[in-house]
Amino acid sequence: MDIKKVMNNLTKRGFKPFYFESRKEALDFILDTIPQNASVGMGGSMTVKELDLDNMLYKRGNTIYSHSLVAPEQRQNVYQLAGSADWYVSSTNALSEQGDFVNIDGSANRISALAFGVKNILYVLGANKIAPDLASAIDRARNIAAPPNAKRLNKNTPCATSGQCSLCDSDDCICNATLISHHPTRYQENVYVVIIGETLGY
Ligand code: SF4
Repeated sequence: MDIKKVMNNLTKRGFKPFYFESRKEALDFILDTIPQNASVGMGGSMTVKELDLDNMLYKRGNTIYSHSLVAPEQRQNVYQLAGSADWYVSSTNALSEQGDFVNIDGSANRISALAFGVKNILYVLGANKIAPDLASAIDRARNIAAPPNAKRLNKNTPCATSGQCSLCDSDDCICNATLISHHPTRYQENVYVVIIGETLGY
C-alpha cells in the first residue's frame, strides 16, 4: 500500500488527510485540532479506546457524548447529543485506497452522525484499516471488523463463535445498516482523516 497515493486520493475527494508514524504524534495533532471548548460525540470505537483519546479530551475539559459513559437507559439520548455535537470522532471499519470509508452499525448512531448533523468529523485509524478497493473494504468491515466486535459485545450471532460473517438475520445482528462515504457530505465543514502507521482496533 502506497500511503502517499491514499493521501492524494483522500485530498481529491475533499477530505483533509494527515499521516503520522506513531500514535504520540497523532494524538498531539488531534488535541491541537479539536478546540478545548468543543463538544465531541463518539461511538464505541476500539481505536479511540486504545489511544485513550476519550479520556484525554474529557480530562482537559471537552464535553464528551459517548454511550460508554452513561447508563444503558440514557444511551438513545446520548446518541442524539453525539449526533449534533461540534465534533464527532470515530475510527472506520475500513477505508479503501481510493478514499471510500465503510462503516456498518447495529443501531446506526455512528453512521448517522458520520453522514449528517455534525459539521466537524475526525476519523482516526490505524493503517491496518486500509483495503485495496471498495469491495475489499466492505469485506473487511464484515469479516475482519464485525466478528470480534460481536464477540466483545457478547452478541448472539454466528460470527461471534465462527469468526466469519454469514450474513445473519439474528436479532443481535450488529450489521443492520452500512454507510459508504465517498466525499464529505453537503453540510460538513471539515472532515479530517488521521492515519497512524500502527495496528489499531479491529
Ligand atoms: S454474522 Fe451477522 S453480526 Fe456477524 S458480521 Fe455477519 S451480519 Fe454481522
